[in-house]
Amino acid sequence: MDYVRPSIAAMKGYVPGFQPDPWQKYIKLNSNENPFPPSPKVKETLQALTYEDLRLYPDPVSLELRKKLGALYGFSENQIICGNGSDDILNIIVRTLVQPGEAIGFHEPTFPLYRILGILHGAKVISLPMSEPYNQPPMPPPDLKIFFLANPNSPVGFGFPTALVAEMAQRIKGIFVVDEAYAEFGRENALELVRQLKNVVVVRTVSKSYSLAGVRLGYAIGHENLISEMIKVKDPFNVTRLTQALVAAALDDREYFQKTISQILETREWVTKEARALGYRVIPSQANFIFPRPPQEGKGVKFYEALFDRKVLTRYYDEEGLRDGVRMTIGKREEMIAVLQVMKEILPQFSPR
Ligand SMILES: *Cc1c(COP(=O)(O)O)cnc(C)c1O
Repeated sequence: MDYVRPSIAAMKGYVPGFQPDPWQKYIKLNSNENPFPPSPKVKETLQALTYEDLRLYPDPVSLELRKKLGALYGFSENQIICGNGSDDILNIIVRTLVQPGEAIGFHEPTFPLYRILGILHGAKVISLPMSEPYNQPPMPPPDLKIFFLANPNSPVGFGFPTALVAEMAQRIKGIFVVDEAYAEFGRENALELVRQLKNVVVVRTVSKSYSLAGVRLGYAIGHENLISEMIKVKDPFNVTRLTQALVAAALDDREYFQKTISQILETREWVTKEARALGYRVIPSQANFIFPRPPQEGKGVKFYEALFDRKVLTRYYDEEGLRDGVRMTIGKREEMIAVLQVMKEILPQFSPR
């Protein structure tokens, strides 16, 4: 297509995990979805929604939700913007800040969308390779318009301590985005940094921790001067009426949230221990997934395929540092019992004869 911008033609698009329909035939551990249904309050709200109202546009600025989120974390609604998933929020951040030729940065491996957004907006993309044990990542160079840090990181699941995040944020002249898609499963988060440092923005989502990947809601918390500029950039009605109502209901049900999160954390710790006992290598995870690796190096594809053949969906990444294993979401306890049994059965395939 001669019409297409050369940078787009040369780019690989975002590759989502396999989304089978129907999904019930599989143990679906490939997109870090929450294995539990959303709060029952979401169901009640869905049933009570007035269908005639759907002809009307939603609140363009999701005010009720921003107030709720503000109350939950101790921020003013002026410091919060809502989007159609955190992917939308990340996109708005880049559109608000980056002029063609300016630099954005991130570590690698990490969430692949940062690179794609950089290319889409004509940015100079600076990726800093990171290797195990991941606790001394390369520091970002000062001249960046944006640095993206996924914390806890994907696809491996380790978390950076807040002190290190602060140190990195203070190094750059631009905006430091902490993508906290998994923070609710981790020990630390950067919300305090938003209060202390003007250039820190935290991005969150209800996709994973609130079991609402299907409704699409992400948000950013940052300095109100930045948030007000981002509100100018976003699509005018970027969060649907359904989404605003359903997310509000989910946020109100603190008890259900705590209960489901603790079950996932408990299962994560248990699966980590059991997988290690079988002989898999597993880095401690701060997220709702783990990255198990068979004892032998370079067997990630084989591991992925062996699991796939037994209807267990995971993610394999053909990238430096990731070819030894797969990313595996933490499912329900019963699902993980079945997965561990499969992992036990296939283990001999990876050993030398
Ligand atoms: C899942 C994920 C997102 C996207 O979340 P949505 O709100 O569903 O768009 C963003 N960043 C990271 C690191 C993720 O893992």
